Amino acid sequence: MQSTMQDVPLLVSRILTHGATIHGKAEVITWTGDGEPHRRSYAETGARAAQLAHALRDELGVGVDERVATLMWNNAEHLEAYLAIPSMGAVLHTLNLRLPVEQLIWIVNHAADRVVLVNGSLLPLLAPLLPHLPGVEHVVVAGAGDRSLLEGVRPRVHEYEELIAGRPERYDWPELDELQAAALCYTSGTTGDPKGVAYSHRSLYLHSMQVNNAEAFALGGKDIAMPVVPMFHVNAWGLPHASFMAGASLLMPDRFLQPGPIAEMIETVRPTVAAAVPTIWQGLLGELDATKRDVTSLRNVVIGGSACPPSLMRAFEERHGLRVVHAWGMTETSPLGSVAHPPAGVSGEEEWTYRATQGRFPASVEARLVGPDGAHLPWDGESAGELEVRGPWIAGAYYGGADGPDLRPEDKFSPDGWLRTGDVGTITPDGYLTLTDRAKDVIKSGGEWISSVELENHLMAHPEVVEAAVVAVPDDKWGERPLAAVVLREGASAAFEELRAFLGERVARWQLPERWTAVVAVPKTSVGKFDKKVLRRQYAEGELT
Ligand code: ADP
Repeated sequence: MQSTMQDVPLLVSRILTHGATIHGKAEVITWTGDGEPHRRSYAETGARAAQLAHALRDELGVGVDERVATLMWNNAEHLEAYLAIPSMGAVLHTLNLRLPVEQLIWIVNHAADRVVLVNGSLLPLLAPLLPHLPGVEHVVVAGAGDRSLLEGVRPRVHEYEELIAGRPERYDWPELDELQAAALCYTSGTTGDPKGVAYSHRSLYLHSMQVNNAEAFALGGKDIAMPVVPMFHVNAWGLPHASFMAGASLLMPDRFLQPGPIAEMIETVRPTVAAAVPTIWQGLLGELDATKRDVTSLRNVVIGGSACPPSLMRAFEERHGLRVVHAWGMTETSPLGSVAHPPAGVSGEEEWTYRATQGRFPASVEARLVGPDGAHLPWDGESAGELEVRGPWIAGAYYGGADGPDLRPEDKFSPDGWLRTGDVGTITPDGYLTLTDRAKDVIKSGGEWISSVELENHLMAHPEVVEAAVVAVPDDKWGERPLAAVVLREGASAAFEELRAFLGERVARWQLPERWTAVVAVPKTSVGKFDKKVLRRQYAEGELT
């Protein structure tokens, strides 16, 4: 029997209309660096999104399904693009401004972007790329920056404000198929070419509802959410759309991502929820330790994107009263996979058993662990295998380009359609995931596996260690052995023998690294994660001693 319910497609335009009316007074607050943040209401944002859609369609000829790229920081205009482009039926394509230029060029050409919205401050990055982007016909510039960099370029150049000025503040948003692509985001391509994940309207809508769920970010009208995570890193983890849906205001850091300005904007605007990768919070911790700042407005600081050392979580809580929530996800999972809220009835020290994990899955994300022989492993908290997931906001394929079929590489999807995450871990009977490593980072020593993350977490708990990354290096006897690359605190006196002894009290002897190196900073990827492939290469080329 069929249900008797209405079939209303879940569309980004519904988030837009809802936020701009019901939550019209909520604000997007963009940090400007001059002490006075820029404020724009959601009502005005909705009106400007309509104007942008009119401009893109009527002036630049953007049609349904066409990709429109953004090369922008987190700010009010980027939010307008987030709402307007999918709502009009086009596809929002966020470009990662920290990627190597060859990858950026490859991605823009692969996506066949014809229009690029860019912040003026990023023209020094975009201008030299344009000769390599033959398909780009229009560049729309928002915010301050040196326009002379675009003199003589082939695409037509438009000013964002002039382009939208005077256009209608309402748009008759089309009733689209909810499975149509709304946004496109490429993985950073650590191996091979980058891969495009095309989110649907339905997946963005359902994901936004999950972000607002009490077991995730729990956003509501009284909140101010601060995505420090860039809007080009998996849609700022869903916060822009979710906040617009919930009526939570948004504090956007724009290009001011250093610890000092971050602390200042928290103190001034008083956000309640914030999100970023561990390296950002590590930097903020140093700032807070050095200078007293009032950051008590934050009730939830979400850390994810790579394993968050428990020592970092504890330091925030014990020294600054900030509650850190650990979360796991990936570009292919929109990204909300699991969130580590402790279960009911647990308090005090026992909470850490749960909070240090990668957390629990929501109802819409099914998970299973698969052993090396393909067998499904029990959720007993001990059996370790590769994590596979499926659900309505999990990718089922990669975008194959305008003319190509969608891609389903065998190493990324199981024959029955589950996403192979490449992450290895365990799950407890009550559903808490603990990742021991990425499959490609685990150290295979004489038939045993050593978790690089576990060694790193212990090392980073040492008071004189700022950062520590552990990678596998070739070893004649054992196949692979761990190399520890350590950043010591300024003026630190700890010798490697001492760090080794410190580790020796926490892990089995055979796991202890014999090779140690001091580095000024651990190399980072375009989204601020430890770049272990660079460390492995540096070691192979004899650059680490
Ligand atoms: P990339 O693969 O380019 O780094 P993603 O942002 O999609 O891009 O990275 C997803 C990966 O990041 C996951 O597969 C996992 O390895 C890692 N990751 C994300 N969150 C966590 C976490 N909380 N703990 C450990 N690893 C994490």
